[in-house]
Amino acid sequence: MGVESTGEFDLIREIRRRVSGLSAVRLGIGDDCAVIEESTNGDWIVTTDMMMDGRHFVLEECGPVAVGVKAMGVNLSDIAAMAGEPVAAFTSVALPRSRARETAMGLMEGMTRMATEYGVALAGGDTNAWDGPLVVNVTLMGRVERGGEVRRSGARIGDSVFVTGKLGGSLLGRHLSPVPRVREAAALRRVVDLHAMIDLSDGLSSDLRHILEESGGLGATIDAGGVPIHSDSRLASERDGKSPLEHALGDGEDFELCFTVGPEDAERLVAHPPGGVVVHRIGTIEREPGVRLRTEDGKLVPMEVAGFDHLRGG
Ligand code: ADP
Ligand code: MG
Repeated sequence: MGVESTGEFDLIREIRRRVSGLSAVRLGIGDDCAVIEESTNGDWIVTTDMMMDGRHFVLEECGPVAVGVKAMGVNLSDIAAMAGEPVAAFTSVALPRSRARETAMGLMEGMTRMATEYGVALAGGDTNAWDGPLVVNVTLMGRVERGGEVRRSGARIGDSVFVTGKLGGSLLGRHLSPVPRVREAAALRRVVDLHAMIDLSDGLSSDLRHILEESGGLGATIDAGGVPIHSDSRLASERDGKSPLEHALGDGEDFELCFTVGPEDAERLVAHPPGGVVVHRIGTIEREPGVRLRTEDGKLVPMEVAGFDHLRGG
């Protein structure tokens, strides 16, 4: 707690008024804790992500509503990546003191917009103000059938690798309006056995490696010609001279899903993707560790890791 000058409790009351309930949340905003119903046939999955002004967004440029959308969106994307159903969100905010109230209201507008669209209840949080920049954290609880979460660790040799949409160049703007693939993941899990899955936040070349490492040190070959390249990658390419493919493989914050399925499921998925779900088959899981790129003229070249690493700074 602690937005003394702007009336923390008024602010929370206002937030509370704007938030709608949900059956699994037996008690939401207003008490010391939220109460979430036990998940009888399933497990809870929980994720949390923090975003800082100057690092994940520039408040001056994008405004607080976009920050709220992104803060909720990136967490929804993590729930999607395990094929879960999002249920309840908690948010902690450090507001810049000089504009605490307008910032909080904008943030909440963005968050509740996403929460409503994805059927999530905003069930609690913490509100602070300080002389530093805006920092927002969202924690999101979701549900899966018992043992039904799709992990990073399930890829097998011979699996096909898929992504759910076009990649690259998101820094030109798309990174502020993620479209978390919650429905797509649910639709996919109904029709195929998803072996491993991750959402693309750091860039395909980096995130695919997490699947490979967690799956016991496997490798993959990616077909350059199969990688769906977003038009933003071409725009970014015109600006910095890197190729559109490099942008598609290396840029972060696409928030598409990358997943692997066995050969038969792969054929079925390519022939009959579930309604409304876009899938691109981009490669194959192999025993040989490392990631290779098969160029359009058939050569195999090592794929470099170009994804974003916060501790390395780029
Ligand atoms: P406490 O001091 O007991 O932690 P607070 O005064 O911080 O309680 O918060 C009161 C209630 O308002 C709690 O239910 C808390 O979860 C909720 N809350 C506080 N800030 C936010 C926020 N930004 N968004 C949603 N709920 C919030
Ligand atoms: Mg308390």
